[in-house]
Amino acid sequence: MVYTDTRDKSAQVSFKQAVVDGMSAKTGGLYVPVEFPRLDGAFISRSPEPSFREVAYEMAKPYVEGEISDSDLQSIIQDAYPFTAQVVPIDKITYVLELFHGPTCAFKDFGARFMARVMAYFNRGENDNLHILVATSGDTGSAVGSAFHNVPGIDVTILYPDGKISPLQEKQLSTFDGNVRALKVNGTFDDCQRLVKTAFTDADLRKRFRLSSANSINISRLLPQSFYYMYSSLVVRNRIPHDSKIENPAIIVTVPSGNFGNLTSGLIAREMGAPIAGFVAATNANHTVPDWISTGRYEARASVETLSNAMDVGAPSNYERIAYMYSLDQVRSLFASYWTDDEGTKKGIEKCHEKTGYIIDPHGAVAWSAWDEIRNGGMDRLMAGNAETDTSKPGLSANIPGWAETIAEKRAVGIILETAHPAKFGATVTDVIGREPSMPDRLERVLSLPDRAIPMEKDYESFKEWLTGNL
Ligand SMILES: *Cc1c(COP(=O)(O)O)cnc(C)c1O
Repeated sequence: MVYTDTRDKSAQVSFKQAVVDGMSAKTGGLYVPVEFPRLDGAFISRSPEPSFREVAYEMAKPYVEGEISDSDLQSIIQDAYPFTAQVVPIDKITYVLELFHGPTCAFKDFGARFMARVMAYFNRGENDNLHILVATSGDTGSAVGSAFHNVPGIDVTILYPDGKISPLQEKQLSTFDGNVRALKVNGTFDDCQRLVKTAFTDADLRKRFRLSSANSINISRLLPQSFYYMYSSLVVRNRIPHDSKIENPAIIVTVPSGNFGNLTSGLIAREMGAPIAGFVAATNANHTVPDWISTGRYEARASVETLSNAMDVGAPSNYERIAYMYSLDQVRSLFASYWTDDEGTKKGIEKCHEKTGYIIDPHGAVAWSAWDEIRNGGMDRLMAGNAETDTSKPGLSANIPGWAETIAEKRAVGIILETAHPAKFGATVTDVIGREPSMPDRLERVLSLPDRAIPMEKDYESFKEWLTGNL
């Protein structure tokens, strides 16, 4: 597969280069495959549907062709995914896609574990270790640390702001041993990010060490997220005749979004033939993308803090890929978009629990609220011309997607992405439903591990001195 650059269509790079570089140093653009090959029709229509790992293999194959052999790709996928995504029906026409069954209990495990193994693969035969530096305000650091833990030839240094992440998140970051180290920086997340960026541009340091990032814009984190969209849409399609008996159903997938990487992966799965009619882009008070879809103007902003903090992104990095792949009209036809505030998020947790018994985390609750609004008259109001045009108010954006009438005609079913385990946000959930979500073993275990974080000052000289002495 050839990859090109969102800011320079004449650019052509290999998968390896796209992975190793992360983004184009020349233009600052992001890498995208030049095509999204459709999977074989017989594979897609199989019943029972293929397993998650079979889907992963078939989908990954064209993107690594000629650079990773079939048998090596098989091993990468086996090793990356000892867990799968799980489809859980919560009412007649709603399925939750649980993406928290990986080691850190959030969907980022799917992307990070594939990326780690691909990077290790491309690093074989090098004499020196590859050093990954990552600044984190929470979830990314633990997914990346866990994904690279014990991966040979690579080590990871995680920087996080001391005292500014939740105690559980801190445990998840700071208790690794071996090749993954955590530095608790006496400063803010921005200080952490500045230290990492300065290191990457430090010519002296780069001469001595091979440095890399594990950024969420890396194409090797994005492609594997498309696997579970394909897989879940096949599972749901095969279940519908037994569950709701809707004929010729439209599958609508609602995605709680921050950087819009997850939604971009859904678009890729659809291009490759997943039976998905459309999407709902659901955000919290960081509603840059819903505003873009409503007004046609994209305006990045500073992020604001919310209860669904992994979605607190004011300048979503994957906007650039979406705008490269589709015109604004196509976007308006492919997805509805919606935002809600913290009150709405809490109400989502409460109503979902009340109506279905399902305990959903604050990120999933944003998606559930969007879907609940759409199927309970929100889409009908839009189609009747009664859209809310003030984008500063929560709710649906004013566009009418191409699949709107499937809602009116009651032949749509919804898949809601549950991106984190509710126990990761136990305080919020307990506060709303009056009951503590159960704690998975792998989270519980981490709580009793010894803390290994190394204190670090926020000036670059201290950081560099540590790196030089410890890499
Ligand atoms: C990162 C994250 C998101 C947002 O995903 P994007 O790909 O950035 O849109 C949503 N929920 C959780 C729990 C996350 O960790």
